[in-house]
Amino acid sequence: MTQYVYRFGGGVSDGGNGNKNLLGGKGANLAEMASIGLPVPPGFTISTEMCTAYYDQGGQFPDSLRTEVANGIAHIEGVTGKTFGNPADPLLVSVRSGARISMPGMMDTVLNLGLNDQTVEGLAAVSGDERFAWDSYRRFIQMYSDVVLELDHGAFEEALEIAKEDKGVHLDTDLDAADWKALVARYKKIVEREWNKPFPQDVHDQLWGAIGAVFGSWQADRAKVYRRLNDIPHTWGTAVNVQAMVFGNMGDTSATGVAFTRDPSKGDRAYYGEFLINAQGEDVVAGIRTPQYLTKAARDAAGAKAASMEEAMPEVYGELARVFDLLENHYRDMQDIEFTVQQGKLWMLQTRSGKRTAKAALKIAVDMANEGLITEEEAVARVDPAALDQLLHPTLDPKAARDVLTKGLPASPGAASGIAVFDSDTAEKKAEAGEAVILIRVETSPEDIHGMHAAKGILTARGGMTSHAAVVARGMGRPCVSGAGALSIDAKAGVMKVAGREIRAGDIVTIDGATGEVMAGKVDTVQPELAGDFATLMGWADKVRRLKVRTNAETPLDCRTAREFGAEGIGLCRTEHMFFDAARITAVRQMILAEDVGGRKAALEKLLPEQRSDFAEIFEIMAGLPCTIRLLDPPLHEFLPHEEAEFAEVATAAGTTVEVLRRRAAELHEFNPMLGHRGCRLGVTYPEIYEMQARAIFEAAVEVAEKSGAAPIPEIMIPLVGTKRELELMKAVVDQAAKDVFAEKGREIEYLVGTMIELPRAALKAGEIAEAGAFFSFGTNDLTQTTLGVSRDDAARFLTTYVEKGIYAKDPFVSLDVEGVGELIALAAERGRKTRPDIKLGICGEHGGDPASIAFCETTGLDYVSASPYRVPIARLAAAQAALKARK
Ligand code: ADP
Ligand code: MG
Ligand code: MG
Repeated sequence: MTQYVYRFGGGVSDGGNGNKNLLGGKGANLAEMASIGLPVPPGFTISTEMCTAYYDQGGQFPDSLRTEVANGIAHIEGVTGKTFGNPADPLLVSVRSGARISMPGMMDTVLNLGLNDQTVEGLAAVSGDERFAWDSYRRFIQMYSDVVLELDHGAFEEALEIAKEDKGVHLDTDLDAADWKALVARYKKIVEREWNKPFPQDVHDQLWGAIGAVFGSWQADRAKVYRRLNDIPHTWGTAVNVQAMVFGNMGDTSATGVAFTRDPSKGDRAYYGEFLINAQGEDVVAGIRTPQYLTKAARDAAGAKAASMEEAMPEVYGELARVFDLLENHYRDMQDIEFTVQQGKLWMLQTRSGKRTAKAALKIAVDMANEGLITEEEAVARVDPAALDQLLHPTLDPKAARDVLTKGLPASPGAASGIAVFDSDTAEKKAEAGEAVILIRVETSPEDIHGMHAAKGILTARGGMTSHAAVVARGMGRPCVSGAGALSIDAKAGVMKVAGREIRAGDIVTIDGATGEVMAGKVDTVQPELAGDFATLMGWADKVRRLKVRTNAETPLDCRTAREFGAEGIGLCRTEHMFFDAARITAVRQMILAEDVGGRKAALEKLLPEQRSDFAEIFEIMAGLPCTIRLLDPPLHEFLPHEEAEFAEVATAAGTTVEVLRRRAAELHEFNPMLGHRGCRLGVTYPEIYEMQARAIFEAAVEVAEKSGAAPIPEIMIPLVGTKRELELMKAVVDQAAKDVFAEKGREIEYLVGTMIELPRAALKAGEIAEAGAFFSFGTNDLTQTTLGVSRDDAARFLTTYVEKGIYAKDPFVSLDVEGVGELIALAAERGRKTRPDIKLGICGEHGGDPASIAFCETTGLDYVSASPYRVPIARLAAAQAALKARK
């Protein structure tokens, strides 16, 4: 027969200490604390297996459970010397839910269970404190009615308010025994009225009611929603903890409190917490009275009037401090603790690893390793890479005042203040003039890249978390608030209206990409820094990781940022971004709209020196590190002119007419540009484009090698290859350019030619393609689009539903679809290596900065991941954690 009940406390332990799967987090830790000799009120845990069995049997408890629970109660009675339901000296218990991980949506705790009209008198007699007994009884009725009977708690609170008003007092503590007694009578009437039955007087009915309510709450809607949002399996089930009550509400030598063994917000090694004298349970967090500080230092720092626990109860405080240290040493992590003091005696009621900010997580991990409590590798494993995001962008000074206009989506973290600008050209101009700019658009398109780059932050009225603005901003590390629907933007007039107010071009606004808040005026920010504990932990991470971390970067600023964050090369330099530059776009347009090779070459002549200087600058910054440069990739229409003036400008440059250009632009129209004339198809049809780019790369490489001595290692990448032949043709063009340049300059440079794998065909035929290319870079953005047949730009409309319905586990553009796209990658890696054992394998695209995707890259044995500059530290840490996990 399955054992469902596990006892703890009073020197008894049924095992399962620390087994969270079986006992839930709370129960496992209660048993463990008891077993290491800490003062824990005795109790028992009904295991999570019971929850599963209960649902399997259609909401029925097996008969064996009755016996087991009776034994559990007998255990508590034995240790406490009190009897459940005994009118003379009653045992009271709390009934607490507890899943494997703490889960909102589960039933709240019921305290003081076992009180009824008789036992309350016994409690009063034994304690010699009538007020305490009746206070406990009214608390019990209130809680039980709320969480088990699910009656509206408003009525109870109202009755309490009236009682205080009638007496002319404000605090619960000002009510005496008679007041509470009268309130109990009123509460019971409320129950009869609302529930149509009297409040249960049989203590066993009370107990089973509460146990049933805990298991019932596992299937409550709010618990289900929480599980879905947090990937918690429904089969886990919850445990129920039944535990002897201890009382913090027995006068001035009693108290209740919550504490962290270290500061959860800054990470300092200082006890951190609050307590309340003569109070019970959640009073501290409920805000009924202002809690007092635990330590004198904290009280002094806050200038608080009320005494700290260190001062008010020095002995118990000393005991508590001893327990804090003991628990930290035992669990080897910062603990979040609940305790109660009953007439001078300390009782521990809960411990668990404490939640903390990213900053605190770093400090605590590094400190604990330095203290010798954990190893450096454990420190590396402790910090959530995704949480580092909080530290990598300027953030709003938490002390500054905010004038919030509206709220949009928190699309890209970080905060920025600047003047409102409503178009990208102006944004670039203003930024060049040294102004901080917030680019405000209804939505953004590829043409806004330069404006987005120039801006300190981006705000859009339309578009979701995967809109162009959001994706590009995240890639660039620019704060972004997208989809702020309340904004009404008139870009022509240079004004935006919101909440009855007007923001004109040039007015200062602030956005917070972490919360989605849009504010009027300037709010001070604090700059990020990879220093101190952050730098230390990164150093430890680098010692354990196998995967190299590169960056996706194409501007000098991004390259520098990435290097500061520890990038070991460039994994993706997108050359088209250089083409959007205001000074070049006319030449680019002239090239695209040219009717023949001659026309194209004339335009390319103009672009060559520009590209060469771009690459030279990047090579210099990257100082001999490998740089993967992708030749022109996007559909040409992205560059086409729109306005009459733009056409005229190109016409002048090309020596032709606007009509000719318009006709040519119409010819270039594509129905599905993502699958159209782009990628290496451009190079195959217009080899002179790739020829120019390759030449620019080699000329720059030779130039930098001569100048600095650190010869760059260009890795020239051909995009959107599906067949070996495409790569062969394009490699020939690149090799020829190399030969020419090397001959002209009298100097050779080491370089590689490889391809992106971003089409399923390329992945399947990787064995053959590897014959022509020295490296593969998995372009997982497009590979996801082409494998799933889902357009990233149009997915927003159905993606949420798809994730909600469990069709996709996560947004496949954020976290790699390991099962599908991942299989293609693994297959391509294997086939590529078979042909060419030393083939270099990497991943570029958004997934390169996603910890779960990085773990996949580790197990697949790729050589490097490439992430946007601001995600480089995240990738370093995630790669280290993946390596640690793979070792096990
Ligand atoms: P939660 O998971 O919401 O923290 P808990 O079960 O920990 O719920 O309990 C809520 C409050 O009741 C906490 O302050 C806890 O310390 C207190 N509490 C729970 N059981 C007892 C008990 N046996 N004696 C005294 N206080 C208790
Ligand atoms: Mg708790
Ligand atoms: Mg691509």
